Amino acid sequence: MIYLDHAATTPVKDEVFAVMLPYFSAAYANPSSAYRTARTTKQAIDHARQEIADALGAKRSEICFTSGGTEADNWALFGLAAARPDKRHIITTPVEHHAVLHACEALSRKGYEITYLPVDEHALVSVEALDKALRPDTLMVSVMLANNEIGTIEPLSRIVSIAHEHGVPVHTDAVQAAGHIPVDVNDLGVDLLSISAHKFGGPKGIGALYIRDGLHLEPLICGGAQERGLRSGTENVPAIVGMGKALSLACAHMPDASAYVGRLRHQLKLLLEEIPGVHIHGNFDCILPGHLHISIDHANSQLLLMRLDMEGIAVSSGSACASGAAVRSHVMEAIHPDENQADLRFSIGESNTTEEITTAAAVLRRILKR
Ligand code: PLP
Repeated sequence: MIYLDHAATTPVKDEVFAVMLPYFSAAYANPSSAYRTARTTKQAIDHARQEIADALGAKRSEICFTSGGTEADNWALFGLAAARPDKRHIITTPVEHHAVLHACEALSRKGYEITYLPVDEHALVSVEALDKALRPDTLMVSVMLANNEIGTIEPLSRIVSIAHEHGVPVHTDAVQAAGHIPVDVNDLGVDLLSISAHKFGGPKGIGALYIRDGLHLEPLICGGAQERGLRSGTENVPAIVGMGKALSLACAHMPDASAYVGRLRHQLKLLLEEIPGVHIHGNFDCILPGHLHISIDHANSQLLLMRLDMEGIAVSSGSACASGAAVRSHVMEAIHPDENQADLRFSIGESNTTEEITTAAAVLRRILKR
């Protein structure tokens, strides 16, 4: 199979798998227990927390483990809403992941007002619109760091400085960005930031929320008071260890990896541009290195995905959740509402080769010709 869907998920790296293994067997103690072997697992969690904090420029005490990006996003919104019940207005964008959008919709059913900032044809958020949208009762601004479909990197630092002038905290969903582009919470200035391990060579079902020191969030999950009482539940030690290793590896290899993946993306872009009816999306000055999103005239996404799959090529028509459904993604609806084309997202990873890119483009051309 030619796997070109790394934005949906990535394979667990061998080095990551290797560091996880002992925590399934010999080092199985519950980290909350009082004996010596439990101290080993507790130390492993602390070490992973430090690796993640270092990768994000954060303090160890600012990193809380969650079950993934979805929980981190939900917690940022619901947790801050519960902590500040007097603030009933949220600012976000129409191109966020459903983990943010559906949480906003749930809050809107409880009476919250949601403002969706306008985005351009590349899903780039209008910073100018933010100033006008901010109000005395604004709870927070939630804007993703990089869009999962187009790959557009949003102008977060500018968004943060405008929001902070009004005293409003900012959450960013960095699930697609972390491990692929430099992410530093202090450079960005954000107050809350979500990440998910399976997007950068770690295991599924583990993520983290960065919570800036001093910002109070109500917990979503109550119980045995793990994670300093903020997120209860016995820790998923192997996954936490795997996430720490995966993020530190991704950061260490980032310059080489992004240059390599960027070259393959450029090769694919040149090949696809030659196919009649193909339109390439995204502003290549501010885009993740491995993303390439295209629309194709007079074609059907589901049929194309099926034909490509039959030829052994795995891509998606948008986000992983949207691709199972026969509806156009909300991101494409937001940025190209009037068009009725097929959408394909190629997302390239380090394991791809130039031969695979050539084959994938040739197969797509052949399918479209038919
Ligand atoms: N946010 C973005 C931008 C994503 O791309 C995803 C996953 O596709 C998520 C959140 C959800 O993360 P998880 O799969 O870890 O729940």
